[in-house]
Amino acid sequence: MSGEGDTPQAIRKLAPGKLVIASHNKGKIREIAELLAPYGVTPVSAGDLDLPEPEETGTTFVANAELKAMQAADLSGLPALADDSGLCVEALNNEPGIFSARWAGPDKDFRFAMERVERELGEKGPEASRGAHFVCALALAWPDGHVEWFEGRVDGTLVWPPRGDKGFGYDPVFQPIGEDITFGEMDPDRKHAMSHRADAFRQMVAAIF
Ligand code: IMP
Repeated sequence: MSGEGDTPQAIRKLAPGKLVIASHNKGKIREIAELLAPYGVTPVSAGDLDLPEPEETGTTFVANAELKAMQAADLSGLPALADDSGLCVEALNNEPGIFSARWAGPDKDFRFAMERVERELGEKGPEASRGAHFVCALALAWPDGHVEWFEGRVDGTLVWPPRGDKGFGYDPVFQPIGEDITFGEMDPDRKHAMSHRADAFRQMVAAIF
């Protein structure tokens, strides 16, 4: 079963040509397309191909990234890349984890999600660790069912109240280790140099090109 243990060595290289970005999130698609621009890859979005959004039934970030990438590769006949990410709070048994988006409810209200994290952390008592990390899993699948995956991580501390409006999601409460500002207060270039997504992309680019 993939999704456990260390990131494996990639054994298949990605040839120049079309690559499906298996996401319906415009921000994610743009960010991924920019990161892949230097490698001769022509990104095509899942939306452009009218691909359906699969239900995320996996129990790990990697499993969810894999199922999104494999479905897109299977339906399109092209290699496909998907990502799955979230915030893991150590004192909450790494929740919300793969449910990070769902904690924001149907209205995608991240103020509400951050308040829930803070409330549940408060219920653990004053000694509870405020340590947390973001994870980003990337899965690259080919139409024959072959899949490579990579997992990136950034460690930090949760602050309260939330600070900054430059990022998205849980950024205003996440202060990376060694920094005195949150991801929400950070310029995007600086965040992108140290984020979980950047970590996963560095691993992927080193392995597949
Ligand atoms: P996904 O689209 O299922 O991967 O959901 C990822 C969710 O995790 C997002 O909706 C955010 O709530 C959270 N998340 C992932 N990466 C970040 C980040 O870099 N900053 C803040 N929140 C993030």
